[in-house]
Amino acid sequence: MTKKLGSWVSGGWVEGKGKPAQLVNPTSEEVLAEASTDGIDMAQTLAFARDKGGPALRALGFKERGALIRKLSRAIHEKRDELIGLGVQNAGNTRSDAKFDVDGASITLAAYADLAEELGDTKVLVDGDAINLGRSSKLAAQHAYFPLHGVAVHVNAFNFPAWGLAEKAAVALLAGVPVISKPATSTALMAHRLMEIVAEQQILPPGALSFLCGSTGDLISHLRGQDVLAFTGSGQTGTRLRGMPNVLAHSVRVNVEADSLNAAILGPDVESGTETFDLFVKDVVRDVTQKAGQKCTAIRRVFVHVDRLEAVREVLAERIGEAKVGDPSREDVVVGPVATKKQQQDVLAMIDRFVKAGCKAVVGGGKPKDPLGAGDKGFFVAPTLLEVPAVDAVADVHEHEIFGPCTTLIPYDSTESMIAAVRRGGGGLVASLYSDDKSVVRDVVFGIASSHGRLVIGNEKVAGSALPPGTVMAQLVHGGPGRAGGGEELGGFRGMELYLQRVALQGYGPLVASLVDGGKRV
Ligand code: NAP
Repeated sequence: MTKKLGSWVSGGWVEGKGKPAQLVNPTSEEVLAEASTDGIDMAQTLAFARDKGGPALRALGFKERGALIRKLSRAIHEKRDELIGLGVQNAGNTRSDAKFDVDGASITLAAYADLAEELGDTKVLVDGDAINLGRSSKLAAQHAYFPLHGVAVHVNAFNFPAWGLAEKAAVALLAGVPVISKPATSTALMAHRLMEIVAEQQILPPGALSFLCGSTGDLISHLRGQDVLAFTGSGQTGTRLRGMPNVLAHSVRVNVEADSLNAAILGPDVESGTETFDLFVKDVVRDVTQKAGQKCTAIRRVFVHVDRLEAVREVLAERIGEAKVGDPSREDVVVGPVATKKQQQDVLAMIDRFVKAGCKAVVGGGKPKDPLGAGDKGFFVAPTLLEVPAVDAVADVHEHEIFGPCTTLIPYDSTESMIAAVRRGGGGLVASLYSDDKSVVRDVVFGIASSHGRLVIGNEKVAGSALPPGTVMAQLVHGGPGRAGGGEELGGFRGMELYLQRVALQGYGPLVASLVDGGKRV
């Protein structure tokens, strides 16, 4: 019988009714499990989290919340192998892809547990110094942060079921706000097991973390002014959710992490054979192949000066072309299938569209030939490099994200035209620049910084130790303007602001000071 995945709500497991959604193994196309939230009382789910989880978390100081977050991190790490296996099965991940997800989850939780220790045994955070409002300190004011008394609803994308749950939950829980987490249904097996582990081990107080496996039903329409909605997924869904009447009417805080046409830029100064060139190639190839290109931070546009085009084309074609596609449970396979049939159809259709608009497929460009040796099974897409004739020749490459193992090679002839084209992406999560020329770096950074959440600068000094642009870290903000959703997550304390109210406390100076006594200044 097909396994039924329940939801952890109001302190217990509940199975939905009605027609369930199916979770499929994207390699074998076998149905692994079913999930439904039909019939779950979402208003009651929210009330339980607000009334039980909220007070329990707010009764703890940051350090104590951090201790719970540390337990979560360790519990995930202990079950690492089992969780990785589920990523291989349900998301088409190679073991290395799934490790990236599972280890990313425990590392991010650990980073927030460390931050909790820095914040200390207090329940209030202080913003800046006290401000004298008169001639003496008798009348003074102090800005301080207090946790919202609502619920953080986290709606996640299909590509990082473990990390997506953990990175959002770590921040909200440390802020003192209970969480209702909803993974994308198609790849929810790993997140569901993670929730089972948390529930079995009773790591968190009742109501601090709830879990919905299936659709959100009418959950979002019950959100009010003390609640938060943090969404990761397509720009289309993000726009729909933030435009809901109750979200607008109650000024529900919304954070959206959406699509992004991340750019990698090879500076005109960088010649092939240099360490900087090799770093650039490594980053591009990794982003086409890792997680079959299904990373929100993956490089979608590769900008190369016309003088370097031939050298770059040659090496990328070779490296991308040799990446072995197939059953992700096999050691020698580098690229597994994309997560769902729909994803495969969307990716192939968009590659087709780009080609019709004027791109040339240098390698790939469709389905790979029989990757399993078992006929036309599995949701595979061949790792693909598309080339654009000129920087402005194909508008689609600056407007549509291909969320799969595909990138576009774009030649530019001047730094100005390249900067303008990067900005045509309409706002991105990350861009990476590879150059050993300080004036190129300065021009590009000042040219594109305002349309990105993160800029990664690779040069010969860091070539041996650089962290890939696709890796999101707890210490640095993640998010971007415009197309990327306009959101901001993580970044240490910065991510916590979404769940905290900044209040200006104004009155008798010594009294105001006593209210924030011991509060850590952030
Ligand atoms: P999606 O269709 O928008 O789904 C994302 C999440 O929203 C899923 O949990 C989905 O649930 C839920 N959802 C869909 N419609 C909803 C509705 N009407 N009300 C409430 N929830 C709803 O996106 P996707 O195709 O899974 O994800 C791929 C996209 O996510 C890509 O475009 C990628 O760029 C983006 N992404 C961005 C980031 C980032 O950090 N910026 C990270 C990862 C992915 P169901 O699964 O149950 O339908």
